[in-house]
Amino acid sequence: MNKPSYVFAIFSTTSDAYEMRNKTCDEAKGTWLCSGCASPKKTSEIHHVVIKQKGINTSLNFISGVGMGVIREDLLQLLSEFGVSNDLILSTLLNEDGSKISGFQAFRPKKEIIIRGNSASSYRKCEVCGRHLYHPLGDWYVLRSQYSPGIIFGNQFKGLIVSLEIANQVKKLSSKQIAITKLPLLDAARDNLNLDLSLDVKSYQ
Ligand SMILES: [Zn+2]
Repeated sequence: MNKPSYVFAIFSTTSDAYEMRNKTCDEAKGTWLCSGCASPKKTSEIHHVVIKQKGINTSLNFISGVGMGVIREDLLQLLSEFGVSNDLILSTLLNEDGSKISGFQAFRPKKEIIIRGNSASSYRKCEVCGRHLYHPLGDWYVLRSQYSPGIIFGNQFKGLIVSLEIANQVKKLSSKQIAITKLPLLDAARDNLNLDLSLDVKSYQ
């Protein structure tokens, strides 16, 4: 098999995201949510998240302010057919009355790749959990050294990094609220940051 030259980032562009219940938000800040960067702590188990307001119905969405994505069942099924659904850690979404929100689950990727940009990109490290917080400017790309064919990764926009084959199938499920962006795999970074920005969050279990 030829080495891929490109991967694809998939993420939601909607402003109509899921909203967590206030009480759940407060509990999360005391337990599984990092107070420095508002992302789940690496070692946290999150069985469910209580939602006060559902987001728009798209194959990929996110929970506002907590660094978790929301995936629809048909996209999860598609990833399962490619044998990569286990690359995501899933959490149940509940309504405020405790009933399950069917057809959607919250997710965190086991592994993430940072989408990189040019030297004007912003970068800092979370002073609490050490997570890399990177916003790419200019042309986006991914470092080849960070990517492994055969698995899917998360990206910093609460979405996914996938192969061409998966991206082509995702297009069929997708709506205007989903961006599918082609990213070259480069051997060297263009941001003058001499940093290994890989983030392996596979320490949940
Ligand atoms: Zn943090």
